[in-house]
Amino acid sequence: MKVLKFGGTSVGSAKNINNVINILENYSKNDSIICTVSAVGGITDKLLLAGKQAQNKDIEYINTCHLIKDIHFEIIDELNSNNGKSIIEQVAIELNALKSLLDGIYLINELSPKTSDKLVSFGELLSSFIIAETMKHRGMPVVCKNSQELIITNSNFTKAEVNYNITNKNIQDYFSSASQKITIIPGFISKSHLGEQTTLGRGGSDFTAAIVAAALKVQQLEIWTDVSGMFTTNPKLVKQAYPIEKISYQEAMELSHFGAKVLYPPTVQPVLSLNIPIHIKNTLEPDAVGTIISNDDTNNTSPVKGISNISNIALLTLQGSGMIGIPGFSKRLFETLSQEKINVILITQASSEHSICLGIDENDAELAKTAIDATFENEIALNKIDPIIVEKDLSIIALVGDNMKNHQGISGKMFSSLGKNNINIRAIAQGASEKNISAVILQSDVKKALNTLHEQFFESKTKQLNVFITGVGNVGEKLVEQIKQQRKYLKENLKINLRVAGLSNSRNMIFNEEGIDLSNWKEQLATGEKATLESFFEGTKSLNLRNSIFVDVTANKDVAGLYAQYLRQSIGVVACNKIACSSDYENYKLLKRLSLKYNVPFLFETNVGAGLPIIDTLGNLIASGDKITSIHAVLSGSLNFVFNNFNDTTKFYDVVKQAAKEGYTEPDPRIDLSGVDVARKILILARESGMDMNLEDISNTPFLSDAGLESDSVDDFYQTLIDDEAHYQKLYASAKAKGCQLKYVAQLNNGKASVSLQEIPSDHPFYNLKGKDNIVMFYTQRYPEQPMIIKGAGAGAEVTASGLFADIIRVGND
Ligand code: ADP
Ligand code: ASP
Ligand code: MG
Repeated sequence: MKVLKFGGTSVGSAKNINNVINILENYSKNDSIICTVSAVGGITDKLLLAGKQAQNKDIEYINTCHLIKDIHFEIIDELNSNNGKSIIEQVAIELNALKSLLDGIYLINELSPKTSDKLVSFGELLSSFIIAETMKHRGMPVVCKNSQELIITNSNFTKAEVNYNITNKNIQDYFSSASQKITIIPGFISKSHLGEQTTLGRGGSDFTAAIVAAALKVQQLEIWTDVSGMFTTNPKLVKQAYPIEKISYQEAMELSHFGAKVLYPPTVQPVLSLNIPIHIKNTLEPDAVGTIISNDDTNNTSPVKGISNISNIALLTLQGSGMIGIPGFSKRLFETLSQEKINVILITQASSEHSICLGIDENDAELAKTAIDATFENEIALNKIDPIIVEKDLSIIALVGDNMKNHQGISGKMFSSLGKNNINIRAIAQGASEKNISAVILQSDVKKALNTLHEQFFESKTKQLNVFITGVGNVGEKLVEQIKQQRKYLKENLKINLRVAGLSNSRNMIFNEEGIDLSNWKEQLATGEKATLESFFEGTKSLNLRNSIFVDVTANKDVAGLYAQYLRQSIGVVACNKIACSSDYENYKLLKRLSLKYNVPFLFETNVGAGLPIIDTLGNLIASGDKITSIHAVLSGSLNFVFNNFNDTTKFYDVVKQAAKEGYTEPDPRIDLSGVDVARKILILARESGMDMNLEDISNTPFLSDAGLESDSVDDFYQTLIDDEAHYQKLYASAKAKGCQLKYVAQLNNGKASVSLQEIPSDHPFYNLKGKDNIVMFYTQRYPEQPMIIKGAGAGAEVTASGLFADIIRVGND
């Protein structure tokens, strides 16, 4: 004999019921079958809604009742190809009784727990009848047995306790003489000793099946549902969750107790001592392996088996300096809650006994507060303890595993990965048996927390990075293309799952929690939402994804002004925009501090030398204890391009224009040619070397003509280049006469920085610098005579994009 249970979705449509019937037909070839069924999916909720509406004198209950009727009639019609008249007639009688009950509730304005149980019982009574009758019509050997005649409980309505002595006897007696191959029984519903209709608690059909399986000591209990087993975590919230093949009773119980709805927590209890395995299967995918819950979990080596969560939690905190001296304090607290029938889900108490925290269902919060404050009225009046503090909108997340006790550092990993992702932990509880470590967090952080922990404990090999890019011009576009091209490589070789979750330009923005499809990102962006800097920030923040990185590929001051906001949300910042790091020193310092405080990166390698690893190298030198004595560098790809191409056969204006056209200058070429851009770069290197310096502290000897320096607009400026050709030719001629090359050089010496155009002799390392190349020479305590030199292309969209990319990957390798 086998006991099977089919849940709400499994019997939620004619198509799914046909699946169920096929499964039963197959099984019944070799065995007799007892099949427990839930109400049609969603019906229990609708019955309760109709009840609430009637109670509140809301006439809408009639429509809800109609809807319930329509759902059932449609299923009957579809299952019986419109030949279900006799079933419809019988169901109509039941539905009339339901309508009368609702009318009664409406009239007396009251829905007691007792009436509520009577009301919801219709759901399972109807579904079991319809399925059994349909099977009969198809000639199958089936009867429907009302479980209310078998399962006897106390009168604790909505969650009644079973009297196993009577119930077991009823079940054994009935089935010892039953001869039919298939028995359908409604789940969830029962009766009290007094004959009142009771229920076993929401989700209780699983429990019904377990009670029957245990009473008959069958070989196996099968729970058929809408997912392929018990998953590592809730598959609706974590895409990467996967079914657990084998799990112990204790682990399954803990997971379900902490919110894994796939199994109603009391279900394990009747079958546990009899060692009856529970097999969780998927009605929609009958061939999937599913999960076996049993004691035979000998291969159980993984410390964490699953992660679950319970929503709608309120945290009660009772505290006060006088608590230590109050005798029987905890006893009184828990007695108060027990008298009010309030279930305590989590308890934590500091060893100082100054405070105690309780996690309870949010719906019970007001009742709990009133009752506890009343119990401790005197102590509160005497200021020995404070009135209880209630916090809402919380959730509990729990790591579960029998083997956690044998592994060190699990809770450390759990809390540090939550902390890294800015998930604030309000309370922690860990049972002495160490089968469970739970934490109370904000409800709004649940999805992020589950994904973070799942990645940490079940996908530890891959790290997901979510980037949000603003500015998709020349460099940004290249960056997106590089990401698109490298995604597969990164996943396979570096175990980094890099996803672009947000993109914006100055007009539009798009987001996708699952990662934007990069094959047509331009089209998507063109039709995206209207963007502002603030709305892009809000969008990024509200997705609340772990390992989020904001990538600034603009040269915009306002974008740079938002970094602090991003960092405060634990969103890392990667920027090629130089403004933040070269603006006010206090601001630069603040961003560095925020990055440390929120444990997220603030990286800007491309601020100096595009893709060359200059800042990273400098950081490594300093971190390893070296000291910078001086830096000599050519840091402007654009100026290098200009002076490498300018001579007595070319015109200064033409060369600058060409540099601009090829994208080697800032949109405003004065920023490059006035030396400001280079000054910003040496400033950043000085700051990264540990110096407190501002842009005004850098001596800048200009080489532009006076008119060039004073020009009001870009166009005016270009005109001065034409007008002052002779001035520039003079600079060239002077260098040529000495056998020198013109290079724009930045220097940092003895804490002083300068930028200027210099005539470089042929024996100097700068002499042969080609094209748009940059060069940096670090003289340090470890490199006193022969400097450490970094040289290579220091401008251009492709290399700048690759520098940004390298910063993003740096985050992944952390
Ligand atoms: P049924 O109606 O078949 O009893 P339930 O809705 O009660 O089904 O339970 C199945 C649902 O439990 C799944 O659809 C899933 O959303 C949810 N669930 C939560 N946590 C887990 C988990 N760890 N593994 C599987 N399902 C889970
Ligand atoms: N129909 C009931 C509920 O929705 C019982 C169950 O589905 O297990 O809670
Ligand atoms: Mg269920």
